[in-house]
Amino acid sequence: MLTIQELKQRACAAIEQRSQELIGVSQDILSHPEPGYSETRTSRVVSDKFTELGIPHDNGLALTGVKGRIQGEAGPGPRVAVIGELDSLIVGQHPFADAETNAAHACGHHCQIGMMLGATIGLQTPEVLEQLSGEIVPFAVPAEEFIEVERRLQLREEGRVEFLGGKQELIKLGHFDDIDMAMMCHTASDMAERKFAVGGTSNGHVVKYVQFAGRGSHAGGAPHLGINALNAASFALQAINANRETLREEDTARIHGIMTKGGEAVNAVPADVKLEWRVRSGSPDAVVRNSAIVDRCFRAGALAVGASVKITNIPGYLPMRHDNVLAGLFRQNAQELLGESAILTIPASRNRGGSTDMGDLSHIIPACHPYVGGAVGTGHSKDYVVRDYEQAVINPAKIMAMVVIDLLSDGGSRAKEIVSSHRPAMQRQSYLTHQRSQAEIIEFNGADL
Ligand SMILES: [Zn+2]
Ligand SMILES: [Zn+2]
Repeated sequence: MLTIQELKQRACAAIEQRSQELIGVSQDILSHPEPGYSETRTSRVVSDKFTELGIPHDNGLALTGVKGRIQGEAGPGPRVAVIGELDSLIVGQHPFADAETNAAHACGHHCQIGMMLGATIGLQTPEVLEQLSGEIVPFAVPAEEFIEVERRLQLREEGRVEFLGGKQELIKLGHFDDIDMAMMCHTASDMAERKFAVGGTSNGHVVKYVQFAGRGSHAGGAPHLGINALNAASFALQAINANRETLREEDTARIHGIMTKGGEAVNAVPADVKLEWRVRSGSPDAVVRNSAIVDRCFRAGALAVGASVKITNIPGYLPMRHDNVLAGLFRQNAQELLGESAILTIPASRNRGGSTDMGDLSHIIPACHPYVGGAVGTGHSKDYVVRDYEQAVINPAKIMAMVVIDLLSDGGSRAKEIVSSHRPAMQRQSYLTHQRSQAEIIEFNGADL
């Protein structure tokens, strides 16, 4: 019987041995970026790899998810998911952007697939698996980046998904019902000398698809006959900005968006204007409060020029809740691998401002979402690239394998402790009720007043 230390060494050695291959998979995905719910090629890469590794798996979960299943050979026990996100962003200027679709991995998700496969390979080492109980569930999940709202609403219309975020949809479909806890690592570029960060939280949010409708007319000959939907939208954005001073410091609010259609031809009064908007805040209550302010502003824009507006409110993500015991295991193992000075502990109250659907999952089961270095540049921009693949793929693969060994060795006693001490913020059903209550369509005609 090997000691836990020896098991970790074996797993890390197996990952090390295949490090070039794992980095190769990540770089291949980097060169073939696909945004959420369209990750068909990326999903196939994972599925082929699982087949090659002899891992039974299901494909096509929430359209593109791939869920593997590896039984520990020491008997039944808790089931631990190691997650990797499949999707890219849309950043057309990124050096690795797809020339046709503008898709680009400007958030480092391509590394997540490499590290998820790496952790799996480490844990599949025969003498390691022999001493693990329960189940390891390597899980490639779709659509974390909440983008292309109009296209995803179309998928919703077609009945192909209900939720626009991948983990939300997987939760709804019950694909996390047989999982006791989940982990992943996300790349980061803002950690200075540190290589690994754990803790903190993220913003919740609500997403808005906003359509202003006016009346078209000749912009030179008869502007008085038109109703300018672009002016309505522009007025609404000023109204939103006028409310920024009322936002509470502690809510970490971020209110931002894009205009996806501003009119059709420069010589016609714009009659059809579309925006995708987002309201982020640190707590679900603050999201509701700030979302109502923004809805008021969109109405104000319509009212000002007598246009009409339709606001489709779409359930966004919940703030991240880290399980303390899982986070502690990540910290310990990262320290062991990288040294104490390489680890940053983020206070639980520190909100990074972004959002992740790992937050949704963390309301239901114990979860951990640490950060690893290796990237440079600003996230979601053309500058965000991974420079150090050893750091961004191989180290987190080893750390996740080490954490799983802690959890599932010794009859799975650590994992069982986590399960029994965890107090979920929501059950699956109350989660779905909460999220569905966010979905709302507001229609307002400014010409009625
Ligand atoms: Zn991102
Ligand atoms: Zn990301």
